[in-house]
Amino acid sequence: MNLGWDTEQLAAVDRRRLWHPFTQQLAWCAEEPLIIVSGKGALLTDSRGRSYIDGNSSIWTNIHGHSHPRIIDAVSRQISKLDHTSFLGTTHPKAIELAERLVGLLPGTPLTRVFFSDNGSTAVEAALKMSLQYWQLRRNPERTRFASFSGAYHGDTAGAASLGGIGIFFDRFSEMHFPIERFSDMAELTSFAHPEQLAAVVIEPLIQGSAGMRLWPDCMLRHLREFCDRMGILLILDEVMTGFGRTGTMFACQREEITPDILCLAKGLTGGILPLAATLVTEEIYNAFLGTPEEQKTFYYGHSYTANPPACAAALANLDLFVEENSLEHLQPKIKYLATSLESLRTLPWVSEIRQCGFIAGIEVMLDPATCTPFAWQQLTGARICKAARKHGLLTRPILDTLVLMPPLCTTMDQIEQSIEALRSAIREVCED
Ligand SMILES: *Cc1c(COP(=O)(O)O)cnc(C)c1O
Repeated sequence: MNLGWDTEQLAAVDRRRLWHPFTQQLAWCAEEPLIIVSGKGALLTDSRGRSYIDGNSSIWTNIHGHSHPRIIDAVSRQISKLDHTSFLGTTHPKAIELAERLVGLLPGTPLTRVFFSDNGSTAVEAALKMSLQYWQLRRNPERTRFASFSGAYHGDTAGAASLGGIGIFFDRFSEMHFPIERFSDMAELTSFAHPEQLAAVVIEPLIQGSAGMRLWPDCMLRHLREFCDRMGILLILDEVMTGFGRTGTMFACQREEITPDILCLAKGLTGGILPLAATLVTEEIYNAFLGTPEEQKTFYYGHSYTANPPACAAALANLDLFVEENSLEHLQPKIKYLATSLESLRTLPWVSEIRQCGFIAGIEVMLDPATCTPFAWQQLTGARICKAARKHGLLTRPILDTLVLMPPLCTTMDQIEQSIEALRSAIREVCED
């Protein structure tokens, strides 16, 4: 099918002018890039007319499908009325309505204030700076350190990157990072000698994404909440990946019936349509920042596009869709179906482990699972499998040798089945070599 795109020409200019994130450009420029030109539901279509199931929800963002008419309508009506206005010194109806709706998603919890920014990194960055300033304002200035976990990923701005526990991403910048204490689990954290120096503990609840879809033990969040309460440390939950239904409930923290002091949301907030983030905090934290100008308690942090009106309109439509399409209810049988389908991959001799949390799955492959022998990392096995899966109509991205499958919540049972079959064929093709 010729869609009228000149793939060669676009590819040439891409190679000449662009620099892609998390990408070794030398390898990128050696191949024909995949140029995505349209999306509908769980499907994406490239410039050569081939369609793919969006197997990682376009880097963990998409919720109800691409170009959903309900969201398009909300965004276009908003743009034609008010495109953008500063959130420093003015406000607007969509941001007001969205803040009320977000707080309403966590009824009976102390999270009552919403601070908007642009992406997951800035949602976390704001949370860190709020925590530090909170303790200064509370005359507890010795709380200057942050605790995070091995394998953590909280974004790429300097503060958020400080928390990161993935060496190849962050080590080279460690000189300029915030002071961090890193722990591998609860046992290590609870035996830390100086909890009184901790401003906050930051965690990806239930499942660490960039670490390779690694699951935390059951009840860990509850234990962490108890520990933070006992030691007077703030608990920051980074639900940038897990938020908006991905784990089966609206937020992951609801699975263990706990509430953080600060909740960071981004990726799925607008349904994956526009960049927007929210940092929700308790009234107690918020109140600490109130004072006269002379008291200098203001939180000096913000971005030009804070609470961008079309993004807020998209987020409201995203939340409407959860109600109108009964998304969470419809998701439950899909989660079960995904579990059974994933189970069938275990018979492949290279599949060493399958990790699932709600509608998020990580499938780990190894040269020999019996002896725990991985493929040599230089072979880029995970990447080659995902490349091979494209031929079978599935688009996703691995984390080393963990294949990620977390399609939009609107993905149909048939599409789940197709995704699993695409992975099965791709694993065979690459690993049998
Ligand atoms: C993606 C991600 C971030 C960073 O979000 P960006 O929008 O890419 O800046 C932070 N935390 C988690 C858990 C994420 O998955």
